[in-house]
Amino acid sequence: MTMLHRRTFILGGVAGAGALALTGRAAGAATPFPFKLGVASGEPAATSVVLWTRLAPSPLNADGHGGMPDADVAVDWQVATDQRFGSLVASGTVTARYADAHSVHVVAGGLAPDAEYYYRFRAQGQLSAVGRTRTAPAAGTPGRELTMAFASCAHYEQGYFTAYRRMAEDRPDLVLHLGDYLYEYGPKAGLVRRHVGAETVTLADYRRRHAQYKTDPDLQAAHAVAPWLVVPDDHEVENNYATLVRADSTPALTAAQWTARRTAAYRAYYENMPLRPAQAPVGAGIPLHRRVPWGTLATFHLLDTRQFRDDQACGDGWKVCAAAGTAGRTMTGTAQETWLLDGLARQDATWDILGQQVFFAQQLRTGGTANMDAWDGYRAARGRIQQGWRDRNVRNPVVLTGDIHSAWANDLKADYAGASSAVVGTELVCTSISSGGDGTADTAVPYQAANPHLRFFSDRRGYTLTTIGRTELRADFRAVPVVTEHGAAATTLKSFVVLDGRPGLQEL
Ligand code: FE
Ligand code: CA
Repeated sequence: MTMLHRRTFILGGVAGAGALALTGRAAGAATPFPFKLGVASGEPAATSVVLWTRLAPSPLNADGHGGMPDADVAVDWQVATDQRFGSLVASGTVTARYADAHSVHVVAGGLAPDAEYYYRFRAQGQLSAVGRTRTAPAAGTPGRELTMAFASCAHYEQGYFTAYRRMAEDRPDLVLHLGDYLYEYGPKAGLVRRHVGAETVTLADYRRRHAQYKTDPDLQAAHAVAPWLVVPDDHEVENNYATLVRADSTPALTAAQWTARRTAAYRAYYENMPLRPAQAPVGAGIPLHRRVPWGTLATFHLLDTRQFRDDQACGDGWKVCAAAGTAGRTMTGTAQETWLLDGLARQDATWDILGQQVFFAQQLRTGGTANMDAWDGYRAARGRIQQGWRDRNVRNPVVLTGDIHSAWANDLKADYAGASSAVVGTELVCTSISSGGDGTADTAVPYQAANPHLRFFSDRRGYTLTTIGRTELRADFRAVPVVTEHGAAATTLKSFVVLDGRPGLQEL
């Protein structure tokens, strides 16, 4: 069957439009399965959600096109209220373009608020897996209690993605991914898996690396279970970069080549994530900071702490650095900081949740050294934001963090140097999915004497599961004992609640 005939058949099938019309061809068909990267959904609003897939029958091909021909392909999509697609509520056909590496971002609209749905795709006569998704509550209503899991840092070589699998089994309503979704490095020997290709530099490299990660069945399960909200950190481009400044010079790149690399990384990120078209890259940048309302229950303020930050003060790493305290330093850029504070002033919801990347609370180590890549390297910016939410009487500010491959729970203090200073907010830090390998059973908070507001630590891999209601936000720190072997069970290491109107952690 030629491409032309097949396409006619597919579009004809959709024109027939019965609920069961979206049938795949019999097994053994000549066309290789195009949905090897799975399906995803994201950016839930009250009446719409983004549906994502990318066609790639040979995901690891070096050209980044996943074995697809230089031609556009029609992709049918369906949304139903049941897993068997007996009651369709939305459907259509979208074009997967060669220029977009055959990725599609469907904004499925006309949905009911605070409702669960199932979706699937068909292309080249074959059906995708079925994904589950949901919408946010209507404006002005709290909706149901929200189960939200958040995660970060999934190094493909350093461990299996068991934690993603366990997260999927918890069946959250919503997943937040706070960055290091993938790593740019070339392959390293002696680990459980191997990156395909050298360190990612070109668009083809990033597309292929995204494809390799997306072939992981545990990651696919986590995408298929719930809509995601994603914000990248550094490794989606390169380790610890700050705006246009690189943290290392390997491989050697001219300024123009570095800009081209960053542009390619952002483009591949957009292509491979369930983002709205509003987040598509523009020029060398990508507009990622955004607000996602969840009725009157929660507002998610998703921050971008890489693209607009000042360079790390005194260089990267743990330093004693007076320059890190300079008044004008910024982590988010002025425009994003103003946007954040304006959004916090609205008081639209019980919980104001800041989804961001790097450690927010003060954390001092030997001799007063601090992490220059985290908010300790941008102390004035942290102070402006904390004071900003206090000035605006923000009821329940909760900061969510990834990046550091360990779990933490922190009280945020008006003045970190003052032992009796007020607790003004809460920070929950998820550990990594796999980065760093198995970790240890250690739960002693490092340097706690110097940082009494840091209340919990774990060196295990896992994720954080939150249950968000009108009177309290509960956080369960979930962990797996091993990621260098398949199949570990997850356990809850520790739970806290944050009570409405009372900043800081309550131990359970
Ligand atoms: Fe990481
Ligand atoms: Ca990172």
